[in-house]
Amino acid sequence: GQGLDVNDMLSFADEALYSAKHEGGASFRFFDHRLQQSLRIRRDVERDLGLAMDSGAVVLWYQPIFTAAGQLHSFEALLRWLHPRHGWISPEKVVHAAAATGLAQRLLCHVLALVCAASRRLDALGLGHLPLAMNISPREMAHLDVDVLVLDALHAHGVSARRLQIEITEEVALDAENTQAKLARLSAAGVAIAIDDFGVGYSSLASLRGEHVRQVKIDRSFVFGLHESQDNRLLVGTILQMGRSLGIDVVAEGVEREEELAALRALHCPLMQGYHLCRPAPLDDILQRTQMQTGV
Ligand code: C2E
Ligand code: MG
Ligand code: MG
Ligand code: MG
Repeated sequence: GQGLDVNDMLSFADEALYSAKHEGGASFRFFDHRLQQSLRIRRDVERDLGLAMDSGAVVLWYQPIFTAAGQLHSFEALLRWLHPRHGWISPEKVVHAAAATGLAQRLLCHVLALVCAASRRLDALGLGHLPLAMNISPREMAHLDVDVLVLDALHAHGVSARRLQIEITEEVALDAENTQAKLARLSAAGVAIAIDDFGVGYSSLASLRGEHVRQVKIDRSFVFGLHESQDNRLLVGTILQMGRSLGIDVVAEGVEREEELAALRALHCPLMQGYHLCRPAPLDDILQRTQMQTGV
């Protein structure tokens, strides 16, 4: 209600619960209609997630990544859940709800199974050379045996580790030894590691140390209005130069306009992703839309 969408309401519920816990009785003054409604939505979402996974309502959409020349390069899998009563729940909220209800591992396994099925599907269509990327949250990386779960899923579905890329954020790449070991095992098995939202964390450069990073994805805040911002052009140019020096692929995320695309081409950006090129959609739709490039 009142101009807040379901994802805002979920944030509102989390904040209210957090302050109730930390400020005790004082926060009862916030116990208004909106709070009640947001808590109800949160309860519904948490209650329905398990069943939604079983019934196939929690799905992956795919967004293609293209080369500068417009060739299809790879796909990123993005979580989607259309809740029957509350509408589209954002992937971050789905991951959060899973963690809050003890379903984190089940959600990761669900995503892995879907990614593996998509990979097999691409194989069958003669598109077995196109890699698939999936996202892993900082919490999943820290709390789950991500390396074991990923490699088991690939094995169970007969998918080569070389087909898969995992996207993590800068803070994850710098996380505890425990996380480093998981990344090292995945990397050794052939899974590519990408740093997502590159440039907005506190330690962008440090996150590239070590031999595991295959790709960086420039955060879309640097791509936004690139053609109008000398600062952003310098920053993106520097990241591209760094990628070339280190032998790391660089993707520009969030390309929304023709002018941004042109500016990226002028900077010799090799790989691009964004609404202007193709919006995320179910795999079948994406394959239809990209028919020209793939010749399927
Ligand atoms: P991300 O990995 O940085 O993914 C890119 C996000 O930007 C996606 O949002 C995508 O739909 C959106 N996007 C793509 N092109 C454009 C554009 O041109 N302009 C703008 N404004 N946005 C664009 P989405 O699907 O809502 O996902 C949000 C985040 O949720 C992802 O950010 C990723 O961190 C996380 N996520 C998505 N799927 C999963 C998943 O299966 N597991 C986990 N743990 N996290 C996921
Ligand atoms: Mg990503
Ligand atoms: Mg990103
Ligand atoms: Mg992101």
